[in-house]
Amino acid sequence: MKPMLSLEEAQQRILSTVRPLPPADLPLAQSAGRFLATSVSSPINLPPFDNSAMDGYAVIAADIASASETTPTPLRLIGKTAAGAVFQGEVTPGTCVRLFTGSPLPSGADAVVMQEDTTVDPAHPELIHVRDRARPWENVRLKGEDVKSGSAIAQIGDRLTFGRLSLLAATGFANAHVHRAPTVALIATGSELREGGQDLQPGQIFESNRIGLSALVAAAGATANIHAIVPDSLEATERALGTALESSDLVITSGGVSVGEFDHVKQAFENLGGTLDFWRVAIRPGKPFVFGRCHNKYLFGLPGNPVSAMVTFLLLARPALLKMQGAREFGLRSQPGLLTTEIINRGDRRHFVRVTLQDDGTVVSAGLQGSHALSSLATANGMIDTPPKSGFRPGETVQILRWD
Ligand code: AMP
Ligand code: MG
Repeated sequence: MKPMLSLEEAQQRILSTVRPLPPADLPLAQSAGRFLATSVSSPINLPPFDNSAMDGYAVIAADIASASETTPTPLRLIGKTAAGAVFQGEVTPGTCVRLFTGSPLPSGADAVVMQEDTTVDPAHPELIHVRDRARPWENVRLKGEDVKSGSAIAQIGDRLTFGRLSLLAATGFANAHVHRAPTVALIATGSELREGGQDLQPGQIFESNRIGLSALVAAAGATANIHAIVPDSLEATERALGTALESSDLVITSGGVSVGEFDHVKQAFENLGGTLDFWRVAIRPGKPFVFGRCHNKYLFGLPGNPVSAMVTFLLLARPALLKMQGAREFGLRSQPGLLTTEIINRGDRRHFVRVTLQDDGTVVSAGLQGSHALSSLATANGMIDTPPKSGFRPGETVQILRWD
């Protein structure tokens, strides 16, 4: 009898084996969702120079200290600076310079009056009548106020979100030093399985695990390659695994890992030179699960039951994919919700019960909880880790492990 591992022991064994993929420089445009392999500091100030936050006029704030709607202060217009240009002169008392959003603040000026607070008589366009006061540095974006040159802007293990990518671009980076996305081969085993669009013969079912898993793999930041369905023979399984191991960083199979006479994944992997860890993991759905290593490639043999395959992916394979990408955190996001239905686990294994956390913060069971039941998986957005021989009652606040 193989050992029954706790979920945490199984996760620990996997995470202590799997290594991040080597990092490389990647153009920012291709780096969304990747994880940084180095910390980054800014080589420049942001903004790089004092500049205008408005279309308006660069002024000396003291010049317009008494300006108002009824008694505007006239200033002499001495120039104009478009964004991207630099005014060569200096703003002196009684003068102003026309600016646009992003124009560098000319020397001598210490504020910007917005265009809407000024009036120009077309007969005397050289005079700008300012109808409101400005505090010193009003409407000025100061050099370095967003980011100081030399300061940290991202840490090793940070995921490159649109916001971090924008910051890296604004501070002048063209590339990011990131771990590449793992490629994942998806294999479905089972002589009963048919591709969608084919006719079902008696006893056959449509294959669904590769599609569900490919969406989960993509959401975890990796690249999924769907391989052909493999019938339950040792030769076919060995051939499919061999091709998959050659072409990918990691292979995920579903089905064929139980103790039945048609379960060939383990033997095929060993025949190819892989080293196996076969466990039963003390969770429901789940249980039979294979983790193996062949040189620098990994095998995750998931159970065939569709819900078991998805749940074991989320709890055991997803952390490995994140570690391979250089992430710092591997768990699913946990969010509280107010339970409105009763959840009972009469069994002796932890049950990951599929639930729907609604926008108003309440949680309902997603429906039928069998490891084959896909209708509930389709409406669920997370699961509740329910300890053996226990449960939760309506009105309790529970933690939802979110997968969306
Ligand atoms: P197995 O783990 O191979 O014994 O499969 C367990 C159950 O899951 C059986 O009812 C299979 O028909 C079903 N099953 C296995 N693989 C898939 C798949 N890729 N898509 C849908 N159902 C599957
Ligand atoms: Mg099977």
